[in-house]
Amino acid sequence: LTRPRPRSATRHAGTAKAAAGPAPASLERRLAAAEAHCLARDAQLTALRREVLELLLRRGGCAKAYDLQDDLRRRHGRVAPTTIYRALEFLLEQQLVHRVDALNAFAACDRTGPHTQAMLVVCAACGNVTEWHDEPACEAVQARLQGGVPGFAPSTIEIKGLCAACR
Ligand SMILES: [Zn+2]
Ligand SMILES: [Zn+2]
Repeated sequence: LTRPRPRSATRHAGTAKAAAGPAPASLERRLAAAEAHCLARDAQLTALRREVLELLLRRGGCAKAYDLQDDLRRRHGRVAPTTIYRALEFLLEQQLVHRVDALNAFAACDRTGPHTQAMLVVCAACGNVTEWHDEPACEAVQARLQGGVPGFAPSTIEIKGLCAACR
């Protein structure tokens, strides 16, 4: 397996900023990659799960569950919150999505290879989320953590602060 080159991407967890979504070609590419990812893991990316991921990507890759529920309701009528949460739970399990606790939101993972932990840099003012793909930094935190809190295995490291624009 080849490891994808580290890169970062900025996402936004605005409440009604659906305009920041990706171009159609890039959206299709991300969804096709998600399909291949699930197929390889023998996981069922059902039409609904795929659609929730699509809506998340259309919102710029980061959104709150109730915004996705609104989007889905606009397309299909009444949608129970559990429908959204179950779909997000599946996407989390498949590592296609990360939970952003600092914003109470969900961010689409922009990396194709599997990774056990993620580092998310979150702007507390504007809600920008950047997935920081820095393997050595992540491993260094893990290693130091073993000295301070032995046995602890973080799944996500969130770094909260202010982005350049908000400072
Ligand atoms: Zn990720
Ligand atoms: Zn900001």
